[in-house]
Amino acid sequence: MKYSIAIHGGAGTISRRRFTPDKQIAYYQVLAQAIKTAENLLANGGTALAAVEAAVIILEDCPLFNAGKGAVFTNEGKHEMDASIMTGHDLQAGAIAFVHGVRNPIRLARAVMEQSEHVFLCGTGAEQFARKVGLPFEPESYFFTQDRYTQLLKAQKEDTIQLDHSENDSPKNDPLDKKHGTVGAVALDSYGNVAAATSTGGLTNKKFGRIGDSSIIGAGTYANNLSCAVSCTGYGEFYIRGVVAYDVSCLMEYKGLSLDDACQVVINDKQVKMGSDGGLIAIDGQGNVCLSYNSEGMYRAYKRHNSPLFVAVFDEELHID
Ligand code: ASP
Repeated sequence: MKYSIAIHGGAGTISRRRFTPDKQIAYYQVLAQAIKTAENLLANGGTALAAVEAAVIILEDCPLFNAGKGAVFTNEGKHEMDASIMTGHDLQAGAIAFVHGVRNPIRLARAVMEQSEHVFLCGTGAEQFARKVGLPFEPESYFFTQDRYTQLLKAQKEDTIQLDHSENDSPKNDPLDKKHGTVGAVALDSYGNVAAATSTGGLTNKKFGRIGDSSIIGAGTYANNLSCAVSCTGYGEFYIRGVVAYDVSCLMEYKGLSLDDACQVVINDKQVKMGSDGGLIAIDGQGNVCLSYNSEGMYRAYKRHNSPLFVAVFDEELHID
């Protein structure tokens, strides 16, 4: 059975010197667990949609990442989450933004796609819909992590809006200490269909109802069987302006570029020229995988039906049997 699955847990990364062996093991374990869960589905005839949702749920449930449990704090000390999901065979999509308390935002995005006549719901309306379809809610305390609370206090003091930093004692302006902990997954299933999913808490200290790219179809998430499935991470404003996920797809569909070449143009040329740092994961109809970033690193992993598990954060090559 031919299938592929790839995931990310955000680009940027903490500095290498603070990425202790203990942290490395913790990150690698959960990335591997997410891949294995998705692979198990795919190997048993599950759909790409089911695989990307299952992988993202595992990352949302892990406090190491900025999505679901462990989402960053808003200026008001809350957690406002964005997510989206898309299937490539029928161009169906579901997205939610500015949502509080929903345990797994990606499940809500899928419910919007499958159980509403809409594509994009936000705020209290999206929360009402989550209750209607019976999704679990959690109190604010469930989403709390001390590191991210400390990040908020620092960002409030400096009056900045910050990408997720995992180290709170980071020297200011340390370029290696940036991390976008958004999570995402892309998959190709044995039926030849692709799907993509992305979930995030957004930016630390965000206010005014700020929404990033992760919930925007075409910007942070896109899937089309004619080209590829894409999930992005990075400073969302750049990814919205660059319509990044759709741009990768368009370069393949209309210009005939390969997956690798399309990702290279968008991430290492166009986005660099715009001044952004971040990355994306993408998969095409042949199961080719591209994990592309222009930041110091990206939490990432993939598995093809016929290859060993790959897990990495920085530029190292790590295949695990
Ligand atoms: N793209 C996300 C946003 O701007 C942040 C991230 O990737 O960590 O909301």
